[in-house]
Amino acid sequence: MRVVRHPSEIPVTRGEDLGFVPTMGALHQGHLSLIRQAKSECQKVAVSIFVNPTQFGPNEDFSRYPRPLEQDLEMCESAGVDLVFNPDVGTMYSKMPTSIVVPEITDVFEGASRPGHFNGVATVVLKLFNIVTPTRAYFGLKDLQQCGVLKKMVEDLDLRIRLEFIPTLREPDGLAMSSRNRYLSAEERATAPRIFEELSRIASEISMNQNISSLLSRGVAELSDAGFLVDYLEYVNRNTFRPIREKDFDGAVIFAGKIGTTRLIDNVLTLV
Ligand code: AMP
Repeated sequence: MRVVRHPSEIPVTRGEDLGFVPTMGALHQGHLSLIRQAKSECQKVAVSIFVNPTQFGPNEDFSRYPRPLEQDLEMCESAGVDLVFNPDVGTMYSKMPTSIVVPEITDVFEGASRPGHFNGVATVVLKLFNIVTPTRAYFGLKDLQQCGVLKKMVEDLDLRIRLEFIPTLREPDGLAMSSRNRYLSAEERATAPRIFEELSRIASEISMNQNISSLLSRGVAELSDAGFLVDYLEYVNRNTFRPIREKDFDGAVIFAGKIGTTRLIDNVLTLV
């Protein structure tokens, strides 16, 4: 496995399928499932490990975000990764960087709660695509709105890359795996699986044609009672992130909220 810190050291790929998994490190089984999928579909696999400052707001956790690099490299090595790109911030950004703005879908939910977040994500992902030049890139459905934003960027800018979206890997009790779960106290960790429980219940009741607005209000009440500060709980079309009130083949129940100081997001796709 090669570990590369500067774009100029990236080897040129010729004619082979290169799968790419962009990450911010602090790797867990969720990341590994993306890497495994890439390994099964591509001849070579590259992973980037870069905590991207431009996707964090001023009051967010950029400086305290976990950076266990040695452990991450070991995990990549044993997963059979061919190349790790691990640049530093100075290598990635000049003083006044050009920035990608994906319209509409970035105005709502995560985009509204975290102004500038998706511009940061879209810009860094496009830069990473240009540096690594993969044929396919793998993203987790855990960050469902991010998937929608990147799909639109790839379509609108005619990028020659295929995006693959991979189901969310969960702990045995249903909590979506996340690098941020390590911030949870024992008590918060015990409450956190309530998110998936509620989202799954709402999704299955939507499939049974129950009233969507009432399901959502009840869900907010239940999760608030459990101790969450709910940012949003909605039923949306997963491509546009517009709220919908009829069950939809592309529908998803989405949630964001804080437990203690930790903000968690999750979603469940509805089966029609
Ligand atoms: P991050 O390091 O949090 O930026 O995540 C890197 C990639 O891993 C993103 O595409 C995430 O959506 C994906 N990912 C994060 N958590 C999970 C999970 N529990 N299951 C599947 N993919 C995940």
